Amino acid sequence: MDPNTKNFLSNQLMWIVISLGISFAISWFLPFPVSLVAIIGTFLAINFYMRRYQLRRMGAGGFGGSFLGGAGNSSQVNYACISCGQRHNQGSCPRCGSRMKRAEF
Ligand SMILES: [Zn+2]
Repeated sequence: MDPNTKNFLSNQLMWIVISLGISFAISWFLPFPVSLVAIIGTFLAINFYMRRYQLRRMGAGGFGGSFLGGAGNSSQVNYACISCGQRHNQGSCPRCGSRMKRAEF
């Protein structure tokens, strides 16, 4: 599994355990209707802070950066050697050294 995904999942699990513990504590100390409101409020607050924390950790180089990089690679023009057909993007063919090449899309 991707280490980032694994980290994200264990983080998520940790927050679920923490919020469960908090809701148990709240329902222990407060009477029913008040405890329900307090639990929902706590869940929303935890979600809000968790999202902010993860967004800050990802930053601009997270999903956006890798998406732009992937799109750039897929739209790149590929060249193939005219004499031997080897696909390459270098000045001369790495297999036969010919500088003649054609673009392949
Ligand atoms: Zn070649």
